[in-house]
Amino acid sequence: MVLNIALLIVTHLVIPIGFLIWLWQAQFESKFNWLINLLMVLLYSLFFFLNGRWDWLSYYLRFLLPIVFVIAVYKSFIKANSLPVYPPKTFKNYLELGISAFVVMLFIASLKGYFFTGSSIDLSFPLKNSLYYVAHGGNSPIINYHNTHPTQQYALDIIKLNVLGARANGLYPRSLTDYAIFGETLYSPCDGTIANLVNDLPNLVPGESDRKNLAGNHILLKCKGADILMAHLLKGSITSQVGSLVKSGDAIAKIGNSGNTSEPHLHIHARKANTGKSILDGEGLPITFDGKFLVRNSVLFPR
Ligand SMILES: [Zn+2]
Repeated sequence: MVLNIALLIVTHLVIPIGFLIWLWQAQFESKFNWLINLLMVLLYSLFFFLNGRWDWLSYYLRFLLPIVFVIAVYKSFIKANSLPVYPPKTFKNYLELGISAFVVMLFIASLKGYFFTGSSIDLSFPLKNSLYYVAHGGNSPIINYHNTHPTQQYALDIIKLNVLGARANGLYPRSLTDYAIFGETLYSPCDGTIANLVNDLPNLVPGESDRKNLAGNHILLKCKGADILMAHLLKGSITSQVGSLVKSGDAIAKIGNSGNTSEPHLHIHARKANTGKSILDGEGLPITFDGKFLVRNSVLFPR
């Protein structure tokens, strides 16, 4: 865990800010060389700005990157202004151009996660009155670790941000109440019928997980031709029975830490109705919340 956090700090802050300071200080052969290097630094910083896990450090720290970028571009532009436009035609310059073209293509490919094809289901966001953050969501494994699983391709893991813009007090605390989302009320995302539920599994200490009961305490809700799974709920918090009708916005449970989970969060995904034998099988369906397709680093304050 210490290694993961160190890696997070290095990739999200140390490397991009190091690159930006380098851009600021470096001497280039021509305006063309300057532009290519500027593009590379921009793409690296933008990649982590878009795809990084900012809830582990602070969501607000993310905005340090564009601020440093603007200063570095301005400072380096002043120096580059007096350079010739084109560089000498050397092997090194052709190589730099080739590498840049390749990196641009990789970056464009990484944007696939922001789009989906085919039909989707529109739901109401199932949490209210706080600042929520999408930790995993979108249509690419870069921003959504569920994406390689056919049923959970469009699953989302949602957490709540505290006043410092982090998901917890501390980096990986053992106490459940240190996680901002723990105990928050879950509201029904649609008018539907409860098709299945489990309500008696223990609330686990972060770091422990239950590999036998993957979804933990959960609700499977039928609505709009889909089955919606909401997982890792608080023990004993589900107030409905199997067969109960619920309205969109009804309080139905609380967020816990049960099942195969690393820490308190809401897991939600949808599948086409009746396409799976178990609750975790079936044909995955993209979800939009109030018309929006949410991806990692989406934040919202629903009322
Ligand atoms: Zn999940």
